[in-house]
Amino acid sequence: MSYTYDPKNNTLFHKKTELPLDGLEKNFIGACSKCNADVFSISYHTYHDQNAVAAKCTNCGQMYAILYDALWNWTGEHMIRYNCPNSANPEKESSHATENEYYECTNEELKTLQSIPKKKLETVFTPAEIDTLFAKAAGKKHVRQYLYRARKKFDDFNELFDIYLKI
Ligand SMILES: [Zn+2]
Repeated sequence: MSYTYDPKNNTLFHKKTELPLDGLEKNFIGACSKCNADVFSISYHTYHDQNAVAAKCTNCGQMYAILYDALWNWTGEHMIRYNCPNSANPEKESSHATENEYYECTNEELKTLQSIPKKKLETVFTPAEIDTLFAKAAGKKHVRQYLYRARKKFDDFNELFDIYLKI
């Protein structure tokens, strides 16, 4: 069972199927199975009499798809992968080859970075630092000096956008 989420459009996908958006209420859902912090809903979706809630951990950022039947009986829970442009946009699937080497979705740090709108990154980090962060997160060669400089700004970034980077 593979769920992905597009945070820009609040769209939840099950494999390639889009689950229609039904609301954007923020409710306490439960505890994160990774770090035990509070998980809150981001958006509600309905599909074939099933209800699905997209939710996110307030601490580690792990996202979940929590599934219910038509009467809101809990039926399952799945971790959500962030929407990787290569895998969740069918129409783009064939043309991704070398377009952007960062869009490989290899690990958590990279997924977190990719989920942050570029404008937010550019508010705090220089282009060289952003490149370095992506390279580091992807396990690629990077300039250490830029990484150190970028890390010094993580607190500022967290304060501004409530996103805690761990790279
Ligand atoms: Zn968590």
